[in-house]
Amino acid sequence: MNAPLRPSHLGFVAPTGTQDTIKDALFQPMGVDGVYARTGLYEGIVERLAAYISSQREAGTEVLRFPPVMSRRDLERHGYLKSFPNLLGCVCALHGTDAEISAAADRHMQGGDWTSALSPSDLVLSPAACYPVYPIVAARGPLPAGGAIFDVACDCFRHEPSPHLDRLQSFRMREYVCIGAPQDVNAFRERWMVRAHEMADALALPCRVETASDPFFGRIGQVMALSQLHQALKFELVVPLKSVESPTACMSFNAHRDHFGTTWNIEDADGNVAHTGCVAFGMDRLAVALFWTHGLDPAAWPASARSALAL
Ligand code: ATP
Ligand code: ZN
Ligand code: MG
Repeated sequence: MNAPLRPSHLGFVAPTGTQDTIKDALFQPMGVDGVYARTGLYEGIVERLAAYISSQREAGTEVLRFPPVMSRRDLERHGYLKSFPNLLGCVCALHGTDAEISAAADRHMQGGDWTSALSPSDLVLSPAACYPVYPIVAARGPLPAGGAIFDVACDCFRHEPSPHLDRLQSFRMREYVCIGAPQDVNAFRERWMVRAHEMADALALPCRVETASDPFFGRIGQVMALSQLHQALKFELVVPLKSVESPTACMSFNAHRDHFGTTWNIEDADGNVAHTGCVAFGMDRLAVALFWTHGLDPAAWPASARSALAL
């Protein structure tokens, strides 16, 4: 357990700051929009938030932690490029012979461009925490009765550079994932929509849950987004972060129906194609929301938030 967090080293305590005071206290620039070094004050709250989410974990949940990269072939297989090609980051490397690699490095030393010699590796930067779990589960064979629940997390990348603190290119995502028969997944999502709302209330974050759609790419994407809205497949818990008029999604509740089950041939206990669903916590958005709402001094945060975060 860490000592209580005190922002005294910052030289000031803001009740609720502007984006700039918050940015200065919580982050250090790293030269690229949406990519920041995180201060101890900020990271202490992210850690306590993670512990709070762990404390809500259901019995029987299996914990897996993923690296920030995943198999490119797995991501291609489940259709990511159809839906969000604009957000994807691919790991590239110099794959040539020693002579070709030297030539590229030498070009750089002489002020030229070395990047034209890059080619894709078999890795992409993970855009969501739950994607790697489905092929792992598929390889285990049919699911037990009642399905399976996982607790997963990773650093995610999405190519959406922005100067705003609520839209990072590199951010942390934590998820609970249910894989099972449709009724298992529906019950899971309903439980979590109630529980997550209670968690946001305990954190004293003003919020509401609303139907949502994913930011599908292109014109066909607009049709996919409408269909997702009509079928109520995605809900978001939104919190005012930048403005009251357009609050930011800090958690999402997603029903994928049989998408991953079909892609990976996952069978439920009755031998039918498994359904999947997940609840995602945007760790960085939640942490920024806490500072934005309650100010830079966690010692002065509302009692229920301090108790939930064991401050
Ligand atoms: P948005 O609608 O804001 O683009 P999303 O619907 O694409 O977000 P999800 O795919 O549901 O987001 O991701 C799960 C959670 O991860 C979101 O609810 C949010 O809290 C967090 N998240 C998503 N994108 C970002 C980002 N660029 N920066 C910080 N957190 C993010
Ligand atoms: Zn997910
Ligand atoms: Mg959204």
